[in-house]
Amino acid sequence: MSIKSCIAALVVATALSPPPDANAAIKVVTSTQDLAAIVQEVGGDKVAVESIAKGYQDPHFVEAKPSFILKLHSADLLVVVGRELEIGWLPPLIVQSRNARIQVGAPGYLDASANARILDIPSGQITRAMGDVHPSGNPHYWLDPDNGRRIAQSVRDKLSSLSRADAAYFDQRYADFDKRLAEGEKRWKAALAPYKGQKIVTYHRSWPNFADVFGLDVIGYVEPKPGIPPSPPHTLSLQQEMKRLNVKVILVEPYFDMKTPTAIGRESGATVLKMPPSVGGVKEVTSYIQLFDYDVNLLVSTFKQVGGR
Ligand SMILES: [Zn+2]
Repeated sequence: MSIKSCIAALVVATALSPPPDANAAIKVVTSTQDLAAIVQEVGGDKVAVESIAKGYQDPHFVEAKPSFILKLHSADLLVVVGRELEIGWLPPLIVQSRNARIQVGAPGYLDASANARILDIPSGQITRAMGDVHPSGNPHYWLDPDNGRRIAQSVRDKLSSLSRADAAYFDQRYADFDKRLAEGEKRWKAALAPYKGQKIVTYHRSWPNFADVFGLDVIGYVEPKPGIPPSPPHTLSLQQEMKRLNVKVILVEPYFDMKTPTAIGRESGATVLKMPPSVGGVKEVTSYIQLFDYDVNLLVSTFKQVGGR
């Protein structure tokens, strides 16, 4: 269906749609699966949640489809990562949805970054030389479990304001999530404690929050700048730096081409590890807490193999 005919269909649908049912689940659309997972934790059976991007896709670059407009058209709430993560694809879809409830600034629009701890906020003038995709601070902030908690708090408050009668339910669901998350944080920190200060390289600048929380030292990136593909001179100097610092692990997000990281691994003697930064990045990771369990286990077993401390 073309975007135009899709919009025409929507106009007809709007004219015919009945008023919202007070007992119906709140229809939530999120930009990413991480946000959908957190909304599901807090919203339980009072929400029907769908994400636009899949966890195995690069969230900076998502191909817009007419079906996304249909989802947005009927949504009561849209939750976005913000910090310009979705700037390349989401804003036109929001406008084309013709849904006043979820427009930027409307009560049904939630920017999940509002209360999160954001790293890499640029100071001074921003230029394209800094890279293409992180002009408002690092948008991969959900990879700090405490930011997961802060996102869940924002979601709880927003759902409660949309459905006041269910506020106690959302409170209780949030408290349960918070408890399981706190247990997870203890588990993950203990598992990675022996590897504090371990030097790694990552493909994209996806992991500053994760590295900060779990004490890893990211010494370089396969991309010369965020969103800029690898270049031979950068690759060469990265390999030299990795040999000098004895770096044994390269993390690659599943949606990047493995050619350059594999070559760097071969040259430097480092192990290349595909590690998902999102729920849905691999099929067995279907919840926010599972994402950390999966990634921490993967790292620990790799550090053990490569003879890390
Ligand atoms: Zn990024």
